[in-house]
Formats: sequence, structure tokens, C-alpha cells
Amino acid sequence: MDEYRNVCYLIHFDEPIGNAQHYLGYASDLSVRISQHRSGHGARLTGRANFLGIGWRVVRVWRNGSPAIERRLKSMGAADLCPHCSRYIRNLPPVTVEKGQGQPSLT
Ligand SMILES: [Zn+2]
Repeated sequence: MDEYRNVCYLIHFDEPIGNAQHYLGYASDLSVRISQHRSGHGARLTGRANFLGIGWRVVRVWRNGSPAIERRLKSMGAADLCPHCSRYIRNLPPVTVEKGQGQPSLT
């Protein structure tokens, strides 16, 4: 599905792994990337979560993502972007990134 191509995505872990409770990434194809995470071939953190039996799920997706936007989102702090953890954005609609814009914005 096109809506899951070239996205940034935020994973929330049910329990903290060390100091981390989130993973923020960029994927050219999110369903492929999630399969990699599930099978232990994604990121170190999701592999660790799988190993420890800690559940995780994608809680946000930003369309029209890029590695640059991924870096920018990371600099904002994943916890503050998480609908489960942020005291700022709880119950707000998801952030979307319009095509051609380098910066995420609330819509
Ligand atoms: Zn969270």
C-alpha cells in the first residue's frame, strides 16, 4: 500500500529496554520493515525486545518520510511524539508531513 511507502514510524515497547521505550525509524516499505523487526532482522532494539519477550507496536506513522525527517523527529524526542507517553499530544490526531516540506507539523 502506497500509504506505507517512504514513512517514518514510531515503535512503542510495552516495557523499557534499558533507557529506551521507543524506536523511531524510516522505511521505504513499512510492511517489509516491520517483518524484519518481527523476525529479528530489523534494529538492535526490536531484536532485543523480541528476545526478552517484550511486546511492541507501531504507534505512529508519518507519511512522506525520509532519513532527514527521521533525524529531525529523533531530535524532537520519541517519547514526546508517542501517543501513549507524551503528555503534550495524548489524544491529538497524528502528526503528518506534507509532501515537499522538510518539517513535521500538526494537522
Ligand atoms: Zn510510548
